[in-house]
Amino acid sequence: MPDSFERSDLPTLEGDILDGEASLAAAARDWGHIVQARPRLVVRPSSAADVSAVLEFASSRGVPVAARGAGHSPFGQAQSEGGIVLDMSGMATVHEGTGNELLVDAGARWQQVLSASLPRGLTPPVLTDYLELTVGGTLAVGGIGGATHRYGAQTDTVTELEVVTGEGELKRCSAENNSDLFDAVRAGLGHCGVITRATLRLRPARQRARKWKLTYDSLDDYLTDQRTAVGDSRFDHLEGRVVLGDDSGEWRYVLEGTSYFSLPDEPDEAALLAGLSFDHEGRETEDRTYHGFLDRMAESQTVLSADGSWFRPHPWITVLAPDDGIADVVTETLAETSGDDLGDSGVVLLYPLRAETLGTPLLRKPATDIGWLFAVLRTGDPYDVTATGRMLELNAAVAERARLVEGAVYPVNALPMTPQEWRDHFGDAWEAFAAAVKKYDPKNVLARGQRVFEAP
Ligand SMILES: Cc1cc2nc3c(=O)[nH]c(=O)nc-3n(C[C@H](O)[C@H](O)[C@H](O)COP(=O)(O)OP(=O)(O)OC[C@H]3O[C@@H](n4cnc5c(N)ncnc54)[C@H](O)[C@@H]3O)c2cc1C
Repeated sequence: MPDSFERSDLPTLEGDILDGEASLAAAARDWGHIVQARPRLVVRPSSAADVSAVLEFASSRGVPVAARGAGHSPFGQAQSEGGIVLDMSGMATVHEGTGNELLVDAGARWQQVLSASLPRGLTPPVLTDYLELTVGGTLAVGGIGGATHRYGAQTDTVTELEVVTGEGELKRCSAENNSDLFDAVRAGLGHCGVITRATLRLRPARQRARKWKLTYDSLDDYLTDQRTAVGDSRFDHLEGRVVLGDDSGEWRYVLEGTSYFSLPDEPDEAALLAGLSFDHEGRETEDRTYHGFLDRMAESQTVLSADGSWFRPHPWITVLAPDDGIADVVTETLAETSGDDLGDSGVVLLYPLRAETLGTPLLRKPATDIGWLFAVLRTGDPYDVTATGRMLELNAAVAERARLVEGAVYPVNALPMTPQEWRDHFGDAWEAFAAAVKKYDPKNVLARGQRVFEAP
């Protein structure tokens, strides 16, 4: 346990210090609803100076600190047992942008970023499927979505960061300036510092989105068509799912390719579907506004909140696998996954990425040019801890399969990992990462909920 400390020990802050039951209980939970760790205090900073003062205090006393964005981690990653949780919602301003860039506070949600950029005709190049995640929270892990095959992870689209290091020093970093910090913070799981601001690169946005859903009975046919589609980047946004048929009990595969356009131009359907061998009867198309498409999870959130699924345990696992190993990983995983192991509102994602677009050193990329994101997003039963325990075991098996084909986990999982497993995960990036942590967070107070390092 960390040194005991009192609220009155903290320096004076502009923001709020919260030690009420509701605040502590909320900070002890997350989206996963599987692990809980109660902090001693929650601080809602309102400036980088606040973050700096808290970290200066915490590092001098060995008090653990975790930044918390939207708290959508599945397994305690933003929790801080007996320490301080920095609730970044107090730093959520989207500042004015110039040219094709936007300056945002790290507690801002991607929804806010999009709302600020679209009136300028611009958009973040890559967005996650769900927009209520924070900029700091996804830059700490990577941020992958259907445009990653074109533009990389969100961490590849940020040009400069303002960071408060573990000892409370405020620094700016980019590819040109303090690049070791820039490389250690992007997808660095919150270890080297708290991101307080980010400069994001934007792209021109179109007005509308047309999505084609193409279904397949065979995994091989699905993978072949996804390879074709990603090979010539014909879609602006490319994802896909694996769906368990209600009646048949068979897995089917759905390629989801989306093309953006502004009227009077329309996407060229013949060119987009050329050479693909999907089941023509199961083909569907869907038109939405560009914003409506990107915000598509809002509807699911409403439905899942109404039936309670949104608040159940979420033993999620996501892995990244190379092209030559993905069929084995998927086939073996699906063979041992029943409907109960996925849960009523569970989802399986399977879509291609391009290694050449992924440039963030700490985000493990597939060893082949085409790689795959495979995610088994399970929903558990809050009253059945045995079933949730089985889901966690199944997650470990998925991760092991990915490792066997030289893939890696995408580090946002309900998956206990030992420090040695983390070391193996980071591979040849480990030395630089460990050196950066030693330099920027020498007392190891940050992000202990990630369990990457032995607790001091
Ligand atoms: C419904 C849903 C959909 C999702 N879809 C996608 C998706 O499409 N693609 C994808 O890549 N991921 C997806 N995720 C996973 C998500 O990107 C990660 O869980 C992300 O870390 C959550 O962001 P958050 O703001 O909730 O962060 P939190 O859960 O609050 O924090 C996550 C980690 O980041 C650290 N952190 C938070 N803020 C900062 C900061 N300012 N500086 C430094 N470290 C910080 C925390 O300490 C913690 O270690 C999804 C998650 C959910 C629940």
